Amino acid sequence: MLNQALLQQAVDSVRPLLGKGKVADYIPALANVDNTKLAIAVTTVDGQTIGAGDYLEPFSIQSISKVFSLTLALNLYREDEIWSRVGKEPSGHSFNSLVQVELERGKPRNPFINAGALVIADLLQARSGAPKQRMLEVVRKLSMNPTIAYDKVVADSEFAFSARNAAIAYLMKSFGNFDGVVETVLKNYFHYCALRMNCADLSKSMLYLANRGKTLTGEQLVTPVQTRQLNALLATSGLYDGAGEFAYRVGMPGKSGVGGGIIAVIPGDMSVCVWSPELDTNGNSLAGTAMLEHLCQQLGRSIF
Ligand code: GLN
Repeated sequence: MLNQALLQQAVDSVRPLLGKGKVADYIPALANVDNTKLAIAVTTVDGQTIGAGDYLEPFSIQSISKVFSLTLALNLYREDEIWSRVGKEPSGHSFNSLVQVELERGKPRNPFINAGALVIADLLQARSGAPKQRMLEVVRKLSMNPTIAYDKVVADSEFAFSARNAAIAYLMKSFGNFDGVVETVLKNYFHYCALRMNCADLSKSMLYLANRGKTLTGEQLVTPVQTRQLNALLATSGLYDGAGEFAYRVGMPGKSGVGGGIIAVIPGDMSVCVWSPELDTNGNSLAGTAMLEHLCQQLGRSIF
């Protein structure tokens, strides 16, 4: 049964995994995170949130923000305008790879690898008045937490070490698939990654994915069909090169970030967020995946 004791059990069951992964270290602000943090929170479609471990402690959401940006883009653009610029297929390469971008003439495989998310950020820059402010408003509203903010240190540090993402953006520009000023769009993208939210905020924010597009406050953010499509993309590409393993072990559409967070949903039922900073070789939280696996096994749930 889903209750606080089950969540506590999920947290306790993965403690032996601590020390077996590796915290993201491409910027100092992430390298210095306490690697012993463990957290889980669940929000059910009836609006209740429960959690265990460090679930009220904010962390850097990193690529989990790619779900929010795609959702915002779906609000601003026709679907063909989006999908002519980014694909819907798993990449089979690391999340920050340039290889496919070159081979496939500037069109990224999907919106959840860096290249795809940069195209989405480019779309948001072109049509959203103040893209950074707009994103903040959206996540504050979705989580019902007006204190959510960007971590300036993380955002600035990402920008200082942006060579790879800048290279991806310029490569897409060379193929005509990037309209904005690269530095401006990169800054927006890094701010989205630098949002600080806790597991409770994230499980609440993602409820629309479990609730046919309806948010915790009852707003229709995307249509039921778009929600199904978002979940399909999450199931196939949300965990990068680990999407198959994640589907096999967990069986929920999900999205990871290199801050160690993973969000996942069971449509019609609940949204979950786990956090543990140590990552596996695909850049997905090691103990986070195991907590989700434990939860799904105990509940006997899977979308498959
Ligand atoms: N900020 C990171 C990057 O752009 C996000 C990657 C991730 O969370 N997978 O490389």
